[in-house]
Amino acid sequence: MDTPRLFKKMVKRLIPARRKYRTNTTTNYSMLGGLATPFNPTPSFIYGFKGPNESVEEIIKSDENLLRELKVTHEELAALIDEVFATDDDVFCGCPLIRWTNIHSPICPFGDFCTKSIFDYQPQVTEIWLCDPDHWEEIQAWYHSFTTNGYPINDLKRFVDLKWVIVFSDLHPHLIRAHHFFEGHETPYRVDPRLLARMLPR
Ligand SMILES: [Zn+2]
Repeated sequence: MDTPRLFKKMVKRLIPARRKYRTNTTTNYSMLGGLATPFNPTPSFIYGFKGPNESVEEIIKSDENLLRELKVTHEELAALIDEVFATDDDVFCGCPLIRWTNIHSPICPFGDFCTKSIFDYQPQVTEIWLCDPDHWEEIQAWYHSFTTNGYPINDLKRFVDLKWVIVFSDLHPHLIRAHHFFEGHETPYRVDPRLLARMLPR
């Protein structure tokens, strides 16, 4: 076999291999965009992201419309959450804060970011609950009752739905900036853009 023919044969072999690689990459990316398991919470909902029947694309699209309606940007809301994590005060915008350390997975479900190295064992505030001052007494009584009995994820969802508590994770600023993702409506880790927008200085 002369050199040009050999080369042609090699090229032929290379092209299908490349095509196959590209197809696989695309498939994996689209799975990460909506179907991959990391987006779905555990049965106890402790890791957030979204409920099993919610679509990531639809959540993002409807929140983008909501932000246009509210006339706020993803950057403004992400920066506000950064501020909550940066403050040393026990109160933010008049709302008491409850801080948690090392409570959740720091890995972005889109697979492009991690808030904390898995080799870093230093305690770090990874979650902050911003509490409605009008219900602070009830929240505190509830908090003291469960700190001995484990993390009350179902109660937390109820309190979030009542708008007594907003749960901030240290992953939220990245999820909002990079992916416009505020998490699904079925998890207590969804940050309601309407509530965030009310806290912006205007
Ligand atoms: Zn990401």
